[in-house]
Amino acid sequence: MQTVKTLDMLRTALAHLRGAGGGDGARIALVPTMGALHEGHLTLVRRARAEADHVVASIFVNPKQFGANEDFGAYPRQLAEDAAMLESEGVALLWAPDAAAMYPSGFATNVSVAGVSEGLCGAARPGHFDGVATVVLKLFNQVSPDIAFFGEKDYQQLAVIRAMARDLDLTRPHPQAIIGVPTVREPDGLAMSSRNRYLSPGERAAAAALPRAMRQAVADMESGTEVAGTLAGLESELLAAGFSSIDYAVLADAASLEPLASLGKQPTRLLVAARIGGTRLIDNMAVVPR
Ligand code: AMP
Repeated sequence: MQTVKTLDMLRTALAHLRGAGGGDGARIALVPTMGALHEGHLTLVRRARAEADHVVASIFVNPKQFGANEDFGAYPRQLAEDAAMLESEGVALLWAPDAAAMYPSGFATNVSVAGVSEGLCGAARPGHFDGVATVVLKLFNQVSPDIAFFGEKDYQQLAVIRAMARDLDLTRPHPQAIIGVPTVREPDGLAMSSRNRYLSPGERAAAAALPRAMRQAVADMESGTEVAGTLAGLESELLAAGFSSIDYAVLADAASLEPLASLGKQPTRLLVAARIGGTRLIDNMAVVPR
């Protein structure tokens, strides 16, 4: 695996990879990450390997998607360890630019996807999804992948990226080649996240209440319990388990992310963001009307 930190080196390495596939050129998959890798990220890489000739992973802690009072400074950075994990998973190329390579002085463009980015995490984290859309469009243009992999763990992010790809007529990757991968969980159900390492042992134990209470809420709503009461019960359960506040607990249309007051016939999703100690955790699950 080659690690590249400048756009020139990236272009040279990509030309080599594409040429190496023969015929029309090798099929390239992109897995964008912010590093501090865990099994969730590695699952994306394995899916990518199965569907492309070569996998390009990126590691970039994107300053534009962090708010002023968020954890940009504290976000874990462990490039050598991450590179070793990616190499052992068969990644061909690691794109690890620094902020000056991604946003050279004079950088002035912002990509903003209205609608699907506005509620939920968009309301709690102003500017977050502009930062995500801007960097992901840059990564798409830099790497020109045939296919790209994102986790359903960040469900709203996946929806924003899909909307951007559709609205801007992206061809590489084509909107239909933006693949969502189901959330990878710890044995107690907690969704894997680089931020879980912020949790103290007591907070980590209490955090398992999030997926547990969500699973119960999903089961209740699927068997016909009223939505508002179920969501209120879910919030109370999280507070009782040791969460300090709930940013949102919402049943939403799985595509538009518009909140729903009742279960209809369309695919729906339960989405929750809650704080425990100083850490903000997010999770989401499908709700399938019976
Ligand atoms: P991050 O490094 O947190 O920006 O995540 C990079 C990619 O990995 C994003 O597409 C995430 O949605 C995905 N991801 C993070 N955690 C998980 C998980 N537990 N299961 C599946 N995908 C994940």
